[in-house]
Amino acid sequence: EARGGRANTITPFSMDLRQRLDERVALEQDLWRALENNEFLLHFQPRVCVRTGAILSAEALIRWQHPRRGLLNPGSFIPACEETGMIVEVGEWVYRQVALHQKHLQDAGIDISLSLNLSVRQFQDQELIEKLLLLPQETGCDPHRIGFEITESMLLGDSPAMRFSLSRMKKCGYNILIDDFGTGYSNLAYLQNYPIDVLKIDRTFINDLKTAAPITRLIISLGNVLNVRIVAEGVETAEQLEWLRANGCDEYQGFLFSRPVPFADLVQQCEEDQERRRNQSKVLK
Ligand code: C2E
Ligand code: MG
Ligand code: MG
Ligand code: MG
Repeated sequence: EARGGRANTITPFSMDLRQRLDERVALEQDLWRALENNEFLLHFQPRVCVRTGAILSAEALIRWQHPRRGLLNPGSFIPACEETGMIVEVGEWVYRQVALHQKHLQDAGIDISLSLNLSVRQFQDQELIEKLLLLPQETGCDPHRIGFEITESMLLGDSPAMRFSLSRMKKCGYNILIDDFGTGYSNLAYLQNYPIDVLKIDRTFINDLKTAAPITRLIISLGNVLNVRIVAEGVETAEQLEWLRANGCDEYQGFLFSRPVPFADLVQQCEEDQERRRNQSKVLK
């Protein structure tokens, strides 16, 4: 009887597992096809100076234009890319695209930088750094205008290999950003051991400034002490922006200024921004 009872509980579970495995295999095949058919695209979300409102940078965020399921956000396929190891190929597509887009901005006289997100799995890929170091020669991109966003957890343990990789990237001219800062471990030692340019305060803090104001202030002053630029993520309201201005945050990003948009729209935003500032400096003269 006990055996029968167990079989009853096992059957639905394994059917569920079977189904999930089938779905995962189908998704992986789908992802390979997507790479071949060029179904990935990048949207760009501006990063803006809190003080002047000027666009300083933009973050590339991957999307998948799926033939049946429509436009998909990274949350629905990046985890599968990471688990299968495909993130190496998908990620390579992303940084090549970003390099080409940066070159395009340079040629168009638009002086902003671009950033992109790197997964842990990409950092474990031995060839990643070598490929990144060749990008400027291959594409004509300016590495000083490209930043890589990594998460706190990737820096844990103070790995010499990681430190070596990051310092090679820095030497080549690339910028290093810490994404979703404040949500990982609170071991701050790595901040002084690694060549970091920017800390992006996780949007959960900005969402909930009523409770998170002291911590957020602390992160901003940490930026001043370490001479690292501080960016607030997920800014949705004028009140949040006002608070950031009053508390000396350097830059912000969020739906208040713009959602992630196609590259052509980013270019237009930057041109309008340049025009606006030209007019302002005329008024001042
Ligand atoms: P992330 O790098 O922290 O990117 C910020 C996410 O917050 C983006 O979601 C963006 O659309 C969203 N966001 C921006 N402003 C606001 C706001 O004001 N309110 C709210 N509620 N959300 C806002 P998205 O594009 O869905 O990307 C999610 C995550 O996927 C990214 O988080 C990043 O970790 C990952 N990702 C995106 N593109 C890539 C990529 O090319 N490679 C890798 N490895 N990961 C990527
Ligand atoms: Mg990011
Ligand atoms: Mg983030
Ligand atoms: Mg500072």
